[in-house]
Amino acid sequence: MNAKSNYPEHASSAASTSRLASSRTKIVATVGPACRDPEQLRELILAGVNVFRLNMAHGGPEKQAAVVADIRAVSRALGRPVGILVDLAGPKIRLGELPEDPLKCETGSELTFVRGDRSDSPTRLVSNYARLIDELRVGDTVMLADGTVGLEVVSKTVNAAVCRVTAGGSIRSRQGINLPGVALSVPAMTGEDVANADWATGQEIDFISLSFVRSPDEIRALKVMMAARGSTALVIAKIEKREALERLDDIVAASDGVMVARGDLGVEIDIAETAVAQKRIIRACQRFAKPVIVATQMLDSMHRAPRPTRAEVSDVANAILDGADACMLSGETAIGDHPREAVAMMSRIMRATERMLGERPTTPPPLAEHSGVTAVTAAVVSGAVAIADQLHAKLMVVATRSGGTARVLSKHRTRTPIVGVSDNEIALRRMSLFWGFVPVPGAPTHHGPQLREFMAEWAMREAGLGRGDNIVYITGSELVPTAKNLVVVHEIE
Ligand code: PEP
Repeated sequence: MNAKSNYPEHASSAASTSRLASSRTKIVATVGPACRDPEQLRELILAGVNVFRLNMAHGGPEKQAAVVADIRAVSRALGRPVGILVDLAGPKIRLGELPEDPLKCETGSELTFVRGDRSDSPTRLVSNYARLIDELRVGDTVMLADGTVGLEVVSKTVNAAVCRVTAGGSIRSRQGINLPGVALSVPAMTGEDVANADWATGQEIDFISLSFVRSPDEIRALKVMMAARGSTALVIAKIEKREALERLDDIVAASDGVMVARGDLGVEIDIAETAVAQKRIIRACQRFAKPVIVATQMLDSMHRAPRPTRAEVSDVANAILDGADACMLSGETAIGDHPREAVAMMSRIMRATERMLGERPTTPPPLAEHSGVTAVTAAVVSGAVAIADQLHAKLMVVATRSGGTARVLSKHRTRTPIVGVSDNEIALRRMSLFWGFVPVPGAPTHHGPQLREFMAEWAMREAGLGRGDNIVYITGSELVPTAKNLVVVHEIE
């Protein structure tokens, strides 16, 4: 019996060709006015997008519900499961309205934070965080305009914090305020985040990310909230604060996935340390077998230019060599002039880089004790990878429900392409963030001759496999009740 599938039996040929030729590293693309229409979304999927990010800082539920519906409709028409990531803004502190906008800040001049939500003097600033003045101390650093403008608090009264501009530049109304090293008492989720998360549970979204995470408890609380509302969305921690780096292992262990949110991270810590921090975060995710997304400014110049800089090409390639499972496009797809070209370019860089992965020693497999799967599953996955290598198998097929086996296998960075099948549409969409996995809808639900026949036909049609080629299956325990996992090798006849 075929899995109940929402995808048509014969998706358009444009979609069904070359599924295995896509990059193995996943592409997350942020939705915005530049790619919002169904036709544009379709183009981006065909160019290589696996997951769409809805940035809740730019548009609430009313606006985003229509985007979710369009992504689902386009993905089904193409026969390609695509993930949706709802990105909660978290406790982002912002400037209020500036009476003079933009405001040029000269190095050495003074600006004063005052209470309230309005200012009538250009040198007096207000924010959306009522406790800002209470929590700032003399000597603290305040960064504005994405870290391009720096201030130092030089004196304080009950109702004002006077700052000297240490790095001059221009600021605008409602821009973010970063306070590196300042321990804020602001809650992990604002009322708006709670409302947005609540909305997301009703939309069957696949991933939800929380910005400015400081402790594993914040992730656990979001998980409890999502589960209580019946959502199965995977919870992603955005690492962008020093406090998060200090509790990295605990946060990675508590999360279902992680984002290296380099935009704010590069302001919250010394920008010079971000590359090393990225490597540290990725290594932790490898140990815990959690998918990790590297985000922000990956192909930044493609906002305006049709081609990236050499440095950007290296950045995407190096993220993959570090071990990233996915790379993210932000403004490049949301508001850029060349969204499709940015996705296509990212996919090209990924494919060129992945060829090199095959020449490197295999990545050490994640240990069962850290990865949240049983010792049997971890061992069976390692064994299946070795079998596939030794037999020069052309394909691995994983039948999974919860995605645990898929998550661990994905971290092995196999040379062999992997197809994921499931009778659960949610599990298929989750695979959109698992490195190397091609989710294939509509396959028979149980391991046995029907699945093998379906996959052999699929592999011959989609990937040019033929008689004598081996396919390695990792399956659940349906065949032998006492077994936890099984590995089956099928030679196409
Ligand atoms: C970032 O800071 O890098 C990030 C991805 O978050 P946002 O786009 O919400 O600023």
